[in-house]
Amino acid sequence: MSDQALASEPPLEGGSPYELRTEQGKHLPETTIRSALATGDMGFIHSFTTGSTVDGPGVRVVAWTASCMFRCRFCHNPDTWILSHGMPVTLKRAVDELRKYEHGLKVMRGGFTLSGGEPFMQPRFAARMFRAAKDMGIHTAVETNGYYGERLSDEELMDIDLVILDMKAFRAVQHERVTGIDDNTRVLDFCRRLAELERPMWFRYVLVPGLTDIPEEMQQVAEFAASLGVVERAEILPFHQMGRYKWHRLGIDYTLENTEPPSQESVDKAVFIFRAAGLVAD
Ligand code: SF4
Repeated sequence: MSDQALASEPPLEGGSPYELRTEQGKHLPETTIRSALATGDMGFIHSFTTGSTVDGPGVRVVAWTASCMFRCRFCHNPDTWILSHGMPVTLKRAVDELRKYEHGLKVMRGGFTLSGGEPFMQPRFAARMFRAAKDMGIHTAVETNGYYGERLSDEELMDIDLVILDMKAFRAVQHERVTGIDDNTRVLDFCRRLAELERPMWFRYVLVPGLTDIPEEMQQVAEFAASLGVVERAEILPFHQMGRYKWHRLGIDYTLENTEPPSQESVDKAVFIFRAAGLVAD
């Protein structure tokens, strides 16, 4: 699809990743979608945001990709689960958008982050976006659940300056309880591969009362992270309800309807567990 054909699409920048966006790519033929996934000539993006200070070091431009293989019970962006909910954006348009911020990102020591959804559901587009950003001399980060890390070559991973790994659980039974997928060996293997490649990582762990606030589980995640030797920081993300309306609007059964955010004491305990494993944690 040409840039001209996409010229009438809505602007890339959304109000925020919490904005509900659906069926932006529903009109595309299956063959176009398959070709886009195979080549990376086009990506499916929920939205762009600029000025983020929480998705990597410095001030970031963030592209939120569509499609995810997990169904995390605490997901605050379930509208990114399905590829066709994303807006089709040619690689050229996405790179041109990033180029607008090239100078500012360098001055502010920020960079470009690909988040989601799960960015590695669109591995060719992700790899080519990172290459383009590195050609501009921009710092790159990916926020990923790590499940499809194998889809990028070692060389492509070297274009990613920071991998922010959203670790859902350590034990398979807990992983299934949280994400619906019981096998997280792919995630653990990807982390070990990143360690061998000496790629810097951050770990993120969402603290949900009654679901993930399990000390033994957190301890195993923390000890695994520490064993890698490349994890610079661990972040405990307190669960919130900002995405609840999306579950309602999409008509998906939401099991955390009455779950409150964790107490400060509970967050402090989680941070302590990660620090006790030898990590810098907050
Ligand atoms: S991995 Fe992220 S985008 Fe996918 S379901 Fe979980 S929280 Fe949502």
